[in-house]
Amino acid sequence: SAGAVTVLVSGNVHDHVVKRIGDEFRLIHIDRPDPSLLSPQDIARVRGLSAFGGIDANFIDVFPNLEIIANFGVGYDSVDAAHAAAKGVMVTNTPDVLTEEVADLTVGLLLATLREVPKAEAWLRQGKWVEEGGYRLSPLSLRGRHIGIFGLGRIGLAVARRLESFGVSIAYHNRRPVEGVPYAYFATLKGLAEAVDTLVSIAPGGAATEKAINADILKALGPRGVLINTGRGSTVDEDALAAALSGGAIAAAGLDVFADEPNVPQALLDAPNTVLLPHIASASALTRTAMADLCVDNLVSWFAERKPLTPVPETAHVKAK
Ligand code: NDP
Repeated sequence: SAGAVTVLVSGNVHDHVVKRIGDEFRLIHIDRPDPSLLSPQDIARVRGLSAFGGIDANFIDVFPNLEIIANFGVGYDSVDAAHAAAKGVMVTNTPDVLTEEVADLTVGLLLATLREVPKAEAWLRQGKWVEEGGYRLSPLSLRGRHIGIFGLGRIGLAVARRLESFGVSIAYHNRRPVEGVPYAYFATLKGLAEAVDTLVSIAPGGAATEKAINADILKALGPRGVLINTGRGSTVDEDALAAALSGGAIAAAGLDVFADEPNVPQALLDAPNTVLLPHIASASALTRTAMADLCVDNLVSWFAERKPLTPVPETAHVKAK
């Protein structure tokens, strides 16, 4: 019965994930992916694994009876899904349930960056409105902007639909064009960056997008250019971005994600024209609970019916042993 199935939770995941796995399975919870925290008996018993990323090939190889890795989050760049697939291990993620929430925050971050919302609020709170008068006119505006979306997937499309109502032009870059959308497609990120002044990145991490947003791309955006990133920090060359901001190659950046979280490069903290958030795009109580349920529902469905609800593409073909 499912009650006899052992599921390992590695690291700090949502309490609702831990609670439900404890209700549905035999739970083992360790605070980091380190096999020395487990007895040989427990290692042999583990059939399911749940984590907020951080599962590499070596850790997958520790468990001889592992069947499924349920990742908390839609982005699974820090789970070695290709290695899991090669070993016949299913990997699931949490798509769709966070799409609208992340798109909302992405648009909010775009507006906050262009209109300097955090700095304007600080002006009020510091009493400067009373002492010195109104906050400065924002040099930047959304009016007349040309938006380029890097990663027109589930979330990118939800961002584009919102931005349509703002009366701005919208174009995008993916490896392949999306059928049935009214937005201009660019086969290269450079081509997109040359055509727009505002790059909104919601592309996944991983080797294929590593530092894709480099000095060349930022220069192509131009001196009025703005970068918004709610995808993954690894997609940005952060040194090049800090240099582009301080040197005026682009005008501003709004970032929710960083290459080495929770560490934010000092050069980005020092840049005057950034809005920096601690990876909060999906982090409302409502949406994190929905993600937790989908994460655990994948485990429940796998062990009850051998069917994952939301397998990642790399392991979609994996069959139960
Ligand atoms: P999707 O898989 O639906 O969309 C990803 C898009 O990126 C696709 O359109 C894909 O198109 C494109 N893409 C992927 N690889 C490349 C590449 N190498 N070059 C160009 N385009 C590429 O995912 P979601 O929209 O659901 O999520 C996107 C990402 O958002 C997640 O992977 C995650 O990293 C991030 N995220 C961040 C959150 C936050 O809190 N800040 C919360 C949730 C998600 P194609 O395959 O044609 O290239």
